Amino acid sequence: MDFNDTPEEAVWRKEVRDFLENEYPDEFRGRGPRRGPGARSDAEDAGEGLFRDKTKESDPLKRWRAALSSRGWVAPAWPKEYGGAGLDTKKQFILNEEFAEFGAMNIGGFGVMMLGPTLIVHGTEDQKKEHLAGILNGTVQWCQGWSEPNAGSDVASVQTRAVKDGDDYVINGQKIWTTGAQFADMMYMLARTDPDAPKHRGISYFLLNMKDPGVTVRPLMTMAGSAVFNEVFFENVRVPARNRVGEENRGWYIGTTTLDFERSSIGSSVGIRKSIESMIEFAKKNPQIAVGAKKREVQLAFADRLIEANVAKLMSYRVVSMQNAGLVPNHEASMCKLFGSEMQQRIAALGVKLNGMYSQIIGGKPEWSPAGRFGIGQVAAVSSTIAGGTSEIQRNIMAQRGLGLPRD
Ligand SMILES: Cc1cc2nc3c(=O)[nH]c(=O)nc-3n(C[C@H](O)[C@H](O)[C@H](O)COP(=O)(O)OP(=O)(O)OC[C@H]3O[C@@H](n4cnc5c(N)ncnc54)[C@H](O)[C@@H]3O)c2cc1C
Repeated sequence: MDFNDTPEEAVWRKEVRDFLENEYPDEFRGRGPRRGPGARSDAEDAGEGLFRDKTKESDPLKRWRAALSSRGWVAPAWPKEYGGAGLDTKKQFILNEEFAEFGAMNIGGFGVMMLGPTLIVHGTEDQKKEHLAGILNGTVQWCQGWSEPNAGSDVASVQTRAVKDGDDYVINGQKIWTTGAQFADMMYMLARTDPDAPKHRGISYFLLNMKDPGVTVRPLMTMAGSAVFNEVFFENVRVPARNRVGEENRGWYIGTTTLDFERSSIGSSVGIRKSIESMIEFAKKNPQIAVGAKKREVQLAFADRLIEANVAKLMSYRVVSMQNAGLVPNHEASMCKLFGSEMQQRIAALGVKLNGMYSQIIGGKPEWSPAGRFGIGQVAAVSSTIAGGTSEIQRNIMAQRGLGLPRD
């Protein structure tokens, strides 16, 4: 098997590398050891992440956005006519791989990854005109309103109601775990329009203005100490009918559209390998803190994690080679997600073993506190096997669709 680039791919890889070398803001580079495997970039650690108050966007972030925009790389997978770069899967894969290698920050978020591709396929021309530009230039931030207290893995059980009233729908209900809702201008969301229909056939897909009367956002603090999640309550919120995407009661099928964007998780497998390297570098520079480095048990665990990082990379290659062959990865993408997210947790735990009790120090003497990032990393990594479909759900997909085992 030859994993080397073709000459054409090598040219593209160099172009991406040169771009990063020349354009990535100095302010975002080299901000100390990564938190571990939370896959957060240095820039995100500095508060410049995807979910932020856009009124406080810093100058380096503006520069970075402008550099990406000039090439259509805010949304590399979108067609050129909508402001993307129209990259094929192989080029997207190489671009994502190089961004992850460099530790460069992605600025797209839900708008680029989820809503934009959905509107490009299912939206009206008016909806595309109204919403796509704001996603690309960062003036409109989006959040995703799918999960509810009784509808997480089984999203089709959503109970938030949307009732037609003249030219509007009136929305009542609640969402939960809504990442970035406190900063979002808009939410794409699923609500029940026909409570009597079978559950998948009574849902519609709406674009809701978060600043409209009747929307209440209540942040939830995670055990890692950040308020990224929220509960969102709707009380008689009026959404114009023109903000429904697709037909009434067909929202489930629109929400689950398999979009042809990159699903190989290459960013996370590269990020994980870099976490291992960064932990080892930290241990070498700080032997008085990383006391576990001398322990045989820790050394052997590092060897295991390195093997796993390489396995994860091969899994990503499998997904992208399927896409290049025109196939749609399904249980193969689940395997990548499952393996990568569980590996993140093992690596995070290793970071804590490496630094022992120092992992718990946050603040305090500057020469000790850097290791506190590993403790936070371990707590933060817990969510990786829940977000985007839990490990149990990924295993179900692999057992039933991959291995052909019966459903019940
Ligand atoms: C970091 C993070 C970010 C998130 N961001 C958002 C967001 O922005 N917007 C949004 O809408 N949601 C978001 N979520 C919510 C996320 O989609 C749900 O948490 C996830 O789908 C699981 O749903 P749940 O929490 O209701 O758990 P449940 O579905 O209630 O599951 C509870 C447990 O039961 C297991 N289980 C459930 N069904 C099965 C089954 N059929 N077979 C075997 N086991 C099963 C699960 O694996 C889990 O262990 C986010 C979650 C996280 C952790």
